[in-house]
Amino acid sequence: MSDPPGVRPVDATAYETVIGLEVHVELATRTKLFCGCPNRYGAPPNSAVCPVCLGLPGTLPVPNRRAIELLVLAARALGCQIPPTSKFDRKNYFYPDMPKNFQTSQYDCPLAGQGTLEFELGSQPHRVRIHRIHLEEDAGKSVHLAEDRQDVAARLGEADYTLLDYNRAGVPLLEIVSEPDLRAPEEAAAYLEALRDLLRWLEVSDCKMEEGSLRCDANVSLRPVGTRELGTKVEIKNMNSFRSVSSALAFEVERQRARLERGEPVRQETRTWDEERGLTVSMRGKEHAHDYRYFPEPDLAILSLERGWLDQVDAWIPELPATRARRFREESGLSRAQAAWLVSSRELADFFEAAGGTLEVATWMANEIPRLIRESGIGLSQGRLLPQALAEVLVLVEEGTLSNKGGRELLEHLFHQGGQPGELVERLGLTQISGEEALQEEVLAVLREHPQAAEEYRSGKDKALNVLVGQLMKRTRGRANPQVARRLLAQAVARDKGG
Ligand code: ADP
Ligand code: MG
Ligand code: ZN
Repeated sequence: MSDPPGVRPVDATAYETVIGLEVHVELATRTKLFCGCPNRYGAPPNSAVCPVCLGLPGTLPVPNRRAIELLVLAARALGCQIPPTSKFDRKNYFYPDMPKNFQTSQYDCPLAGQGTLEFELGSQPHRVRIHRIHLEEDAGKSVHLAEDRQDVAARLGEADYTLLDYNRAGVPLLEIVSEPDLRAPEEAAAYLEALRDLLRWLEVSDCKMEEGSLRCDANVSLRPVGTRELGTKVEIKNMNSFRSVSSALAFEVERQRARLERGEPVRQETRTWDEERGLTVSMRGKEHAHDYRYFPEPDLAILSLERGWLDQVDAWIPELPATRARRFREESGLSRAQAAWLVSSRELADFFEAAGGTLEVATWMANEIPRLIRESGIGLSQGRLLPQALAEVLVLVEEGTLSNKGGRELLEHLFHQGGQPGELVERLGLTQISGEEALQEEVLAVLREHPQAAEEYRSGKDKALNVLVGQLMKRTRGRANPQVARRLLAQAVARDKGG
């Protein structure tokens, strides 16, 4: 039976979610896009500015070659086409943090287009098409001091006010625009993470969402399942973490679904994510390209990238994470998860290979490195553990000089202080006790102190042996060879029975 007229079926699967992301990435250049000012995060306010990036009259921009190289590097790694010519355009709008009153950007002739990013989510492969990548300059930063700096406000005799820092004005930005190929908030977050990993791998950007060197605007709409036409989209801004990207999208999907189910249209608009309240709030209605009165930047020549130069940039593309992960699995028998973790940064992947690149190395790294990094708050490259030293520790464990526990202790020491593993084993007293003679005395002591467990084992309760082994490991501070300890304890209990 069909629904009565006027009643819409409330079916959670009746709509399909459609998402496209616009990602801004600050390039890791030494200087800004059109002047020689340093591109450095965290410098004192307005200390990295000059007449060019302050937009003073009479100044002329000079494009930063390195910024174009980094764009091309990222674009080629994403399989993009690079058209033979490209140009800069002025995007006009008025905002206090934009001193020129226009942003030098690219409108109809971007530097790159038509790429793809492949990633996995829950071991499902995904492919998202990249629509375009263009180069533009960042704006400065408005620092609103309403609540947190009442002291300064009071001094200036104002309740609310805003400070301007132009250090960021003119910093080179990539804008990477995806096609609307994403179908769920978690997919959007996974795409963004994969993009970040790739750009970091290429050393194009440090991609720190918390410092704003990676920023994301998310466009989302719903459409009835089975239809092709796109629904009305909403753009969400101001998400400062991967988690907030998926939370904001999940909120917005439900908000739109509720409207559609009530028969109300979705308004095309820009909304901002309110992290504290966990909801999106309307900022403004849709802007159109004509609102920005784009026109070609008259102070910059048309860009034409020579074939030979593009080939040269191609040659800089290192082995990419997906390829490297596949190679690790084939060469060293790693699991998918192990390989995926190792290629999550170039630092980890390089370390793994330099330490010998075996399954054993991967296992030890996965077990120990994340903890060491978490506990110390420093990265693998700031620590003192060298890949060669890890390889030596594994040899010491393999040959029985060190127990597993001893190996872990030694790694921790190496991570913090560095040093020669062979020499440290002696100095730190980590040598494993495998000699039966050396252990015999400890075995007898354990049996004496734990007659109950010994008795249980004797009367057939096999698990009681674990208690005895545990006690022996404790007595020797983990230095006993567990296999030898086990055998000696079992033998000693059996002897007791005979006697
Ligand atoms: P605009 O002209 O509003 O900037 P674009 O066509 O340039 O829109 O698209 C901007 C982003 O929005 C792209 O990432 C694109 O994939 C995405 N997008 C476009 N239309 C939709 C839609 N109906 N639903 C979801 N995302 C969309
Ligand atoms: Mg757009
Ligand atoms: Zn400058």
